[in-house]
Amino acid sequence: MLDAIIENYKNDIIEQTQKLIQIPSVHKDSPNPFQPFGKEANNALEYILSLGESLGFRTKNVDGYCGYIEFGEGDDLVGIIGHLDVVPEGENWTYPPFEGQLHNGNIYGRGAIDDKGPVVASLYAMKAVMENFQIHKRVRLILGLNEERDWKCINYYKEHEEIPTIGFSPDADFPCIYAEKGVLNSSISMPYNANASDNIYITNIDCNNNPLNVVPKICSACLKINSSKLIMENCISTIKSIIEKYDFEIDIYKINDEELKLTSHGVQAHGAHPDLGINSISRLIIILDEFLKNYNCSIPLFDFFTKHINLEYNGKSLNIDFKDESGPLTLNIGNMSLENNILKIGMNLRVPVHSKLEDIEALFAKHISCYDNLTYLTEKYMSPLYISKDNYLVSTLCKIYNETTNQNLEPIAIGGATYARAFPNFVSFGANLPGHKDMCHQTDEFISIDNLMLSCKIYTKAILELAK
Ligand SMILES: [Zn+2]
Repeated sequence: MLDAIIENYKNDIIEQTQKLIQIPSVHKDSPNPFQPFGKEANNALEYILSLGESLGFRTKNVDGYCGYIEFGEGDDLVGIIGHLDVVPEGENWTYPPFEGQLHNGNIYGRGAIDDKGPVVASLYAMKAVMENFQIHKRVRLILGLNEERDWKCINYYKEHEEIPTIGFSPDADFPCIYAEKGVLNSSISMPYNANASDNIYITNIDCNNNPLNVVPKICSACLKINSSKLIMENCISTIKSIIEKYDFEIDIYKINDEELKLTSHGVQAHGAHPDLGINSISRLIIILDEFLKNYNCSIPLFDFFTKHINLEYNGKSLNIDFKDESGPLTLNIGNMSLENNILKIGMNLRVPVHSKLEDIEALFAKHISCYDNLTYLTEKYMSPLYISKDNYLVSTLCKIYNETTNQNLEPIAIGGATYARAFPNFVSFGANLPGHKDMCHQTDEFISIDNLMLSCKIYTKAILELAK
């Protein structure tokens, strides 16, 4: 019976996913206080709220920050949290990113899987329950507009609206995520006053504004050579031989008789998986450290780096290589800068759920204490999410997934931070299928119609179970 009900919605689910994709709801700064994330994000919200209303739900626009669609009666509130904003489309799409074209059973477009398709699947799952079953709680689909940036939408919601007692977020992976590592952004810095009497000094560093949670693809540094003491050609051949020894991909470019530029090339990857990339910054620091030491211009921060971080991405030489059921700690060097006479290296760490931030801070402090001028700073920390595997919510959702798909999978732990952290007693539940390539934020993002329909069926069962 459930299969037939959902199958009946198929054309609507496809069409509404396409319509939402056609609204390019990328963040824009906005002077309008009622459209804080820009006109298009607001259009996406208004579109789905009016769709919800036409389907017979109660709806509310929460001052342009977010909105919700609700049905049912009772004191208890079951929540589903998704988002309508999307990351910028990027380049090289096979099909236009904001049309929602259908090819080979897939809907293509920015937001198809992250998170517009899963939001539509959730909405029609609510409709299936509302029109065909008796439940004893209210069910609310909460729609954020700022998930891809600062979560201001959900912070606003929490200040002004009712917090659901239990729920899920269709913004990550099936079968169900029970553990998400802590996310730590931190930095190590030192004053760096380039001195004209130095043999060689750094004048500029450019990482192309790489975000901390991305393995940097490119990084360059400009060096000034004091020509009264050193011969440029000799310096270049020294660097060349160091680069050759390490076999790194680093270009040397002579700007003039006193200046040269080194550009290091790596491979981009998500910061939660630094092992999948090649870090251009780490490689450049290793070369610079050895080169500068050759000319008695050692930089303490670089010395620290080569001794305690180097090419590692697990924190081993810092003694922070913790590991538990959520996996190993990962460390990504995401940024390096030289601004206002401060030389700084920025890091993004994913901290296993049972590790403590204080322990990591203490170990950083211990290792930098051997140097006079280094400063460690925790800039931002997002605590881990952990709900034990046998908890009611995790086991129930996982069981629904397994029964519907005839599989026998365990809930998973990930290094990322999903929208489920918005509320206590929430976990991420789909809509990416296990074993399928994660198309979030990718060129040619798509969701298959089969995935969309399966998700709708699974979400219908989940709502029935959580709101019974
Ligand atoms: Zn998302």
